[in-house]
Amino acid sequence: MEQRFIDTSEFTRLGRQLQGTLALQSLQRLTADLPPQGDGVARWSVRGWQDAGGRARLEVCVAAAPVVQCQRCMQPMAWPVDACSVLQVMDAPDAGAGPESADAQMPADDWVEPVEASTRLDLHDLVEDEIILALPGVPMHAQCHHPALGPDASADGQGDEASPVSPFEALRQLKKN
Ligand SMILES: [Zn+2]
Repeated sequence: MEQRFIDTSEFTRLGRQLQGTLALQSLQRLTADLPPQGDGVARWSVRGWQDAGGRARLEVCVAAAPVVQCQRCMQPMAWPVDACSVLQVMDAPDAGAGPESADAQMPADDWVEPVEASTRLDLHDLVEDEIILALPGVPMHAQCHHPALGPDASADGQGDEASPVSPFEALRQLKKN
C-alpha cells in the first residue's frame, strides 16, 4: 500500500521521498470535465527538504497522459504531462499573524507556490493539482486529423490527374477557352 498522507514537518525535516502511481479516473477534480480516462495512470514522486534559510520545501513531480478533448476537432487526445513544482510549506495561519506576515516570508522575486503545513497532507491532492496546472486551457492538436476537418487537401497538390476537377477549376477552363 502506497503512502498517501504525510506529516509535512517531519517529511521535510528528514528529507524524505515517496513515489507511486495513481489512476487518473480517481482524480475527480481533474476528470470532471474530461473524457473517460480508461486505465490511464499518473506516476508521481514527492520529495521534502529544508532550504538554506530553513524553509520547508516540497517538490512534486508528475508524469501522465490524461485524455483531453481537442477544442478544434472535438476528438479525445492524450496530453502528455511531465512536470515538477516546488512548494513552500507555510505554517498554518494563527490569530497573531496577518496576511502581511506571509508576504514578508516570501519576497516577490522568489515566488514559490505555498502549501499549508499539515500532519496529514494528501499527496494525491498535490499530484492532482500538478496535473491540472500543466493542462492547457484550450487543448488542441498541433494538426487535427479528424476527417470532417482534414487539412485542405487541394493545397498540397495531391495527384492532379486523379482528383476531380473543382467547380472553380472548371470555370477557369471555360474562361480560358
Ligand atoms: Zn483536433
